[in-house]
Amino acid sequence: MLLDMQNRGQLAAGMASYRSDRNALIKVHKELGTVAEAFRLNHKAEFENIMTGVDGPAAIGHVRYATCGGDDRYNAQPFERDHGRKTKWFAFAFNGQLANYKALKEELLAKGDYHLKRDTDTEIIMHALAYELQTEDSDPDWVGIFRRLSEWFDGAYNIVLLTANGELVVARDPLGFRPLCIAQNGPLFAAASESVPLANLGFRDIESLEPGTLAVASASGVRIERYAPSPRQAHCFFEWIYFANVASTLDDRSVYLSRAGLGKEMARLETVPLDEGTIVVPVPDTAKAAADAMAFALGVPSVEGLMRNRYVGRTFIEGTADRAAKARLKYTPLPEVLAGKRVLLVEDSIVRSTTMRALVHEIRDRGGAREIHLRVACPPIIAPCYYGIDMSKRDELFAAKYAEFDGERYVVSEEAQDRMAKELGADSLRYLPVDSIARSVSLSPERLCRACITGEYPTDTGTELYQIELAASLGVGPSKNRAYETVAGPA
Ligand code: SF4
Repeated sequence: MLLDMQNRGQLAAGMASYRSDRNALIKVHKELGTVAEAFRLNHKAEFENIMTGVDGPAAIGHVRYATCGGDDRYNAQPFERDHGRKTKWFAFAFNGQLANYKALKEELLAKGDYHLKRDTDTEIIMHALAYELQTEDSDPDWVGIFRRLSEWFDGAYNIVLLTANGELVVARDPLGFRPLCIAQNGPLFAAASESVPLANLGFRDIESLEPGTLAVASASGVRIERYAPSPRQAHCFFEWIYFANVASTLDDRSVYLSRAGLGKEMARLETVPLDEGTIVVPVPDTAKAAADAMAFALGVPSVEGLMRNRYVGRTFIEGTADRAAKARLKYTPLPEVLAGKRVLLVEDSIVRSTTMRALVHEIRDRGGAREIHLRVACPPIIAPCYYGIDMSKRDELFAAKYAEFDGERYVVSEEAQDRMAKELGADSLRYLPVDSIARSVSLSPERLCRACITGEYPTDTGTELYQIELAASLGVGPSKNRAYETVAGPA
């Protein structure tokens, strides 16, 4: 299952299992790196040794993608909280980000006797859970616990928790930022951020856990209960357009069909003259579904003019300081496809633009393309994310510096897009408009988080942090820290 969710994080991987006849009722294995590295998949004896060690009837696992905290092993999940009493001894893993982390941290430290070892929201969640479990007996009131946490937390928090009693709790935050799927087959219950790992495990009836609900699985069965109201939802649209596995279905919406929908939207808006020498080229791999659908609708070929070098490790690429060298390591342009062509280059999104600039240069220089028209299957990212995608500083966002206030919100005009094209070395650049997202994902705007493309945040802390960022950009000077690290006081 972890291998099937590797797209969600490659920094570290781990699992914790429960076994009643083992001295360590909860046992954790976690390491830095991909799942293959952390679980030594290429070393049969070592892998078997690890897996025998964590064998058990209930387990949780995690792949790490960081928006908070360092990249060291110390921050790998699951986290374990040891205790002499079985209900209070637990391991848990977390997907999301607490926007009000800083305020929570200060509130906790103000209690006087707390000390935090790591600089991460996951540690806050661990202490909050431990605090709530303090007064519980051997049959914890999970609904009450998570209801109280929801009054404290602001942001995205999907949590899986395993106690030393063998009870498994799976909870999704009331706004449902991040996806969470569940499935059952006889006595087997499983949950995962995405549907793919569950489908590959053989489950047929895969559902999404409703925002504000939790599932508790134990020897006596599975129950699903609501712990907090969910008056509106705020599913992160970025999951469908970029982050999730293209084979997943999240909240009943297929990732593949959503991306194909974006491609059709791009085709509808295309104005470049199309001739025999025009081709659509996706930036592999996430842009492929959108590029194929766009090309089909336009009646031009979608071809692989850019190959992704799959076997170059992430660490190796990141160790290279030079941007162009990074792009060269990651992608190879094919002159036999690109030479002399008018290329509609399709990318899923542009966050910082560092790779894109180098890529455009490579496609023209090494590939020999005649024209490069950059088409982005996403609106301009103009505002930071405080809910679990690593783009938390406004001044790092390529489009933010081109956004102008139109009296209602910040927008990137066509004229600004022409200037951006110039900066990237492309002949033209077009983004999708904001309203195309809800149409492509087939969810109403009220059920989506679109804060990074509109600047309208679905939570109080998000709104507050964005105002701080804007103020910093408009004169007080750019913030040195991520904004969620600078907001103070209870949110
Ligand atoms: S701000 Fe953007 S990336 Fe972050 S949760 Fe909302 S839609 Fe997703």
